[in-house]
Amino acid sequence: MHKKLFIPGPTEVREEVLQKLATPQIGHRSKEFQELYSSIIPKLQKVFYTNNKVILSTSSGTGLMELATRNFIAKKALGTICGAFSDRWVKIARANGKEVDVIEVEWGKHMPTEEIDKKLATGEYDCLLYTHNETSTGVRNPIEELSEVMKKYPDVVWCVDAVSSAGGDLLKVDELGVDFILTSTQKAFALPAGLAIGVVSEKALEKSKQVPNRGYYFDIQVFMKYDGRKQTPTTPAIPHLFALDYQLDRILEEGMENRYKRHLEMAEYVRGWAKQYFDLFAEPGYESVTLTTVANTRGINVAELNEELGKRGKMISNGYGNLKEKTFRIAHMGDLTLDEIKELLNDIEEILGL
Ligand SMILES: *Cc1c(COP(=O)(O)O)cnc(C)c1O
Repeated sequence: MHKKLFIPGPTEVREEVLQKLATPQIGHRSKEFQELYSSIIPKLQKVFYTNNKVILSTSSGTGLMELATRNFIAKKALGTICGAFSDRWVKIARANGKEVDVIEVEWGKHMPTEEIDKKLATGEYDCLLYTHNETSTGVRNPIEELSEVMKKYPDVVWCVDAVSSAGGDLLKVDELGVDFILTSTQKAFALPAGLAIGVVSEKALEKSKQVPNRGYYFDIQVFMKYDGRKQTPTTPAIPHLFALDYQLDRILEEGMENRYKRHLEMAEYVRGWAKQYFDLFAEPGYESVTLTTVANTRGINVAELNEELGKRGKMISNGYGNLKEKTFRIAHMGDLTLDEIKELLNDIEEILGL
């Protein structure tokens, strides 16, 4: 039996979207490919409310986290650790030989804008690594607030990991002034895994030209060279591009504002439920719109709960790393609906006898 995925990636993919993966292949240097590419890019610019350049990377989102560190750090980066994924980004930067200082907060807490402001004011940094939605803790960082502060630092390239929020939460890239934002397709875009999307500003593109040792696979300049030809640098995951093109029509048909409203509605419902029976792990006021991390205040056996849910054709996520069994995560992202969420929570109540 297929288990419907209520996990923060990969998410549930609709049958008709899956079918698109089986589209007969085309050559990646053909006119048909250029047409497909030219169809996808403007749709993504709409999703991100941007006129910036968009890149399609055949990698998972982590690949573009690596790209950010290789292309936009010449001097020193400021990392902002509030959970497992933001921690990973700092590790990636260091693994690429980059110098990074960090601000670190307790898991479950948000990244304070004032701290970032204070650090950047020293003038020591030329790049900021910021995680919009920390999937391990269910915290949504206050990106709108930070956006105001970043206006003071035109020499800093602002990179945002929006892997688990883009396509569900509202991210108006040009308004925010983000220089590089990255996401994967297997989360709120509700597509299969295997493709990543990046949006890059002119400023970041210019900056990258001064950064040595960008490598090749993740050199943003190589992406741009091929973008001029409506192509990707290497053979991309063509099946995914067919599915992406199709799914983008569905996303834009729903409209980003409506999509955001649907996500928020599901989030508020799950938060209410969690507070009734358990508690929320995320600091109040900073709860994610796309997933909820529930504090396991009743000490239930999460693995067993998931086992039972599996018999009913559903799957949720245990806590991440050290938070295993101490928390569990319910993703409400992608194409899921409030009715599906209600059914899931009803099943959980039945199983636990709540
Ligand atoms: C899932 C996730 C990643 C990793 O993405 P992959 O596509 O698995 O490489 C990075 N950051 C965040 C916030 C995530 O949720």
